[in-house]
Amino acid sequence: MNEVILLKNGEIVLKGLNRRTFEDMLVKTMRRRLSPTGGWRFTTAQSTIVAEPLDDGIDLDEAVSICKKIFGFAGLSRALSLPKDFDAILSETGRYLSDELSYARTFKVAAKRADKSFPLASPEICTRLGERLLCDFPHLTVDVHNPDVTVNVEIRDNSAFVHGTQIKGAGGMPTGSSGKAAVLISGGIDSPVAAWMMAKRGLQLTAVHFASPPYTSERAEMKVHSLLEKISQYSGPIRLFVVPFTEIQEQIKDNCREELFTIIMRRFMMKISGSIAEKSDCGALITGESVGQVASQTLYALSCTDAAVSMPVFRPLIGMDKDEVVAVARRIGTFDISVLPYEDCCTVFTPRHPRTRPKLKYVEAAESALQSDKLINDAVAGAREYLIDGKGK
Ligand code: ATP
Ligand code: MG
Repeated sequence: MNEVILLKNGEIVLKGLNRRTFEDMLVKTMRRRLSPTGGWRFTTAQSTIVAEPLDDGIDLDEAVSICKKIFGFAGLSRALSLPKDFDAILSETGRYLSDELSYARTFKVAAKRADKSFPLASPEICTRLGERLLCDFPHLTVDVHNPDVTVNVEIRDNSAFVHGTQIKGAGGMPTGSSGKAAVLISGGIDSPVAAWMMAKRGLQLTAVHFASPPYTSERAEMKVHSLLEKISQYSGPIRLFVVPFTEIQEQIKDNCREELFTIIMRRFMMKISGSIAEKSDCGALITGESVGQVASQTLYALSCTDAAVSMPVFRPLIGMDKDEVVAVARRIGTFDISVLPYEDCCTVFTPRHPRTRPKLKYVEAAESALQSDKLINDAVAGAREYLIDGKGK
């Protein structure tokens, strides 16, 4: 039996002349992610990539679960590859889909004939294969509107394919197709979701995490590694910079007014991340902020934070409620890690009454008590670098 995985391109089908470039990116990503499972051949035609296993014993279930996390595909399915011979299609389809059809009550056949030289037109394929399946599975009835199983027949240039109901793909754009961005990642619920959302739009991720030992522990940092492992299963490898932040926090605490502590700290985070982003060839920053969530995320505070850097800051959660963010976190597998109770540097020295309406000129005046450039340079120079690669597992 010659089984393959068919992957239907998502949004890139809307691209014009450079569609090929996007497809090449998808194939490159698939080759890398599927390589731990064995050898594969990839062919691209008519908005579909056919992934064909070359080694016996490749675990197709595992391969499908890897492919479900590759951005750029609208849907995918395991499929039987057959010669373009209708008798073969008639005799093999029921056998191939017997599990799905045995458990179903209703079905329909959907046929697509990309190769117009195939002697039967699509409606005829549907009728004749439908009749045959009704004979072989007498408990079934046809439901063209809401069937339990859709039996798909695709007649393509080099082969015919038969498959059951298609699985939803990860959607989005191929990794790297939109450039690179640096995400400020905490151990919380929000920033991992923000990272995943922007990776979905085709951005390759670099991550920056601020650690303040001894106020924050090694376990808090390991939590960030685990979160990025999860995200990298979708986004591909992520470079992580862990920035020493203790000195900066202590300097702010000792030299600035308590109510401005948080906003000044956040501006340092942005400046340091901006510098790391530039060095790493990233064109934007990503944060998990959402309007009104906490004192540092009021409109006033956000505009002070924005003013700290010149590159664009992407905040994909800006208009989302917490429960909407939590739903995504659960879906992508970061939630259970995020709720582990380890401290974040943002919870160190938090003021009792943070300013919710900070004014930039007063914030900048307060910052002039600090040797900002030196503090920033030292922090960037002291950052530890890691490569996180979930390897599509
Ligand atoms: P999260 O759940 O992502 O921690 P939050 O709602 O707790 O977000 P804040 O603690 O105010 O919000 O942080 C706002 C954003 O600042 C985070 O979403 C993240 O992008 C960034 N951030 C916070 N703490 C850190 C950190 N230790 N290292 C890097 N970035 C951080
Ligand atoms: Mg946080």
